Amino acid sequence: MAAIASVNRTDVTNTVDYERLRKMSIPAVLAEAARIEPGKVAIVDGDRRITYEELWKQVQDFAGGLRQLGVVRGDRVAVCLPNWHEFLVAYFAIGLIGAIFIPLNTRYKQSEVAYILDNSGTGTVITAERVGEAALLDMFSALRHDLAALKKLIVARPVQELSPEEPDIVDFEKVVQSGRYAGSFPAPMQLEKDTFAILYTSGTTGMPKGAMLSHRNLVETTAVTAQLMECTPDDVFLVAVPLFHVFGMGPTALAAVICRGTQVLMESFKAATALELIERERITVHNGVPTMFVLELNHSDFARYNLSTMRTGIIAGAPCPVEVVRAIRSRMGCNICIAYGLTETSPALTITRFDDDDTDRAETVGRPMPGVEIKIVDNLYRDMGINRVGEIACRSYGVMQGYYKQPEETAQALTADGWFFTGDLGMLDERGFLRITGRRKEVVIRGGFNIYPAEVEEVLYHHPAVMEAVVIGLPDPVLGERSTACVRLKPGASVTVEELRRYCRERLADFKVPDHVEFFEEFPTTASGKIRKVAIKEMLSK
Ligand code: AMP
Repeated sequence: MAAIASVNRTDVTNTVDYERLRKMSIPAVLAEAARIEPGKVAIVDGDRRITYEELWKQVQDFAGGLRQLGVVRGDRVAVCLPNWHEFLVAYFAIGLIGAIFIPLNTRYKQSEVAYILDNSGTGTVITAERVGEAALLDMFSALRHDLAALKKLIVARPVQELSPEEPDIVDFEKVVQSGRYAGSFPAPMQLEKDTFAILYTSGTTGMPKGAMLSHRNLVETTAVTAQLMECTPDDVFLVAVPLFHVFGMGPTALAAVICRGTQVLMESFKAATALELIERERITVHNGVPTMFVLELNHSDFARYNLSTMRTGIIAGAPCPVEVVRAIRSRMGCNICIAYGLTETSPALTITRFDDDDTDRAETVGRPMPGVEIKIVDNLYRDMGINRVGEIACRSYGVMQGYYKQPEETAQALTADGWFFTGDLGMLDERGFLRITGRRKEVVIRGGFNIYPAEVEEVLYHHPAVMEAVVIGLPDPVLGERSTACVRLKPGASVTVEELRRYCRERLADFKVPDHVEFFEEFPTTASGKIRKVAIKEMLSK
């Protein structure tokens, strides 16, 4: 671990005034960075390097252009773009005029998008002609006929000139050129009351719900996270997670601006590209979901890359196997922090700290961040205290304002005195460290015994042939549910079903040993890289 100690920042004076920044609005954070370090590179987007001064100017111009298009305070503006700098220009500009930012997953299909645009009453969409296979402009053009509220489309990087006969479909660059921001700045904002964004949660369960987040929710949570990670203007962030997900827009992109660092955008995640960028751009902070790190660590050319600049990062968004966390530290020399949170909590609630001991930094998701309260409750929402598994509830400055236009869902998840019920299962120990044991709905109940998939997955990850594993419950006439382990092997590895079951049997109670093992070449994933257990369940149920 010597390599890690040398990249830790114990000797650096932190020049970022986190206390002041955490009380600012989202656009004010950018204005501050542009004021202090105008010439510093804020964004690397392919061949383009954009300074803070340029970014701030583009944001103000685009905000002015949006106003000229008739967008006013409180209007909903959706952004459906890959990790391009235009995404971030829109993000800050929408906040600057007090409109409400609605990020859309670029992999959503028409019906999913229609639901969100309709639910949110979105009037303007900022998108691209195509992203990969998806013909986004065609999709949104078609939706304009079905959705009365949807009027304007703004297209970034159109391949050919847009038709002047369609005045409501305009080029992003032309909007930037058309208007300089003429409003007062900072626009009068109530940081706790004004909704900055509505984030439709990933929808791996049920219909998407729009979590309303205020400026304060995002800025304060992100500032506290960045401060605990000791981020400074020297940091170079790899933006591998999608910006449309809270993990991308908060503790990655916004964190980079809060600490006046540089962010290197990845249009979409590929392990080889990530490794190349880490070496070329001298990345110091790499946030990602576990799958991203697994793919990098198992890449055939992994050893060829120089990753020595990597200082830290956050691994989160799904259970983080101990083996993977240890490999990130020992093989990448990266002092990674495990964090836990949700879209509804902006997102980080807990995080492992640099001075936690080695075991806590691999086996737990850390302790609550300062100002965050966590408790474990039973089915009747009674506090269960420590060392018992129950539902994780939290109260903090990051907890959302509620679900947009869904008072019943809001009342179920959020109490009047601010406690939010996460739907995740976990256990607190006497020192305040949290362990995640699964999701309430994911528990496999086999013959009356509860199996927490994360525990079985952890054992499978230890097996040398296993690259990724998920455990799900499938219906069984006798047992209620039987457990199935779905496994992806490392390249070139082989193992039999019986070997894997024996391996589990040696390490787990009998009832937890998977009844079946299925081998997969690929897992279905969400755009943010999470494995879609629901989709696997559906496939195997057929
Ligand atoms: P999302 O709202 O898409 O960010 O998903 C939030 C969910 O991701 C949480 O409710 C957890 O189930 C899961 N999650 C996030 N971080 C972790 C973590 N460190 N370990 C286990 N699960 C996590």
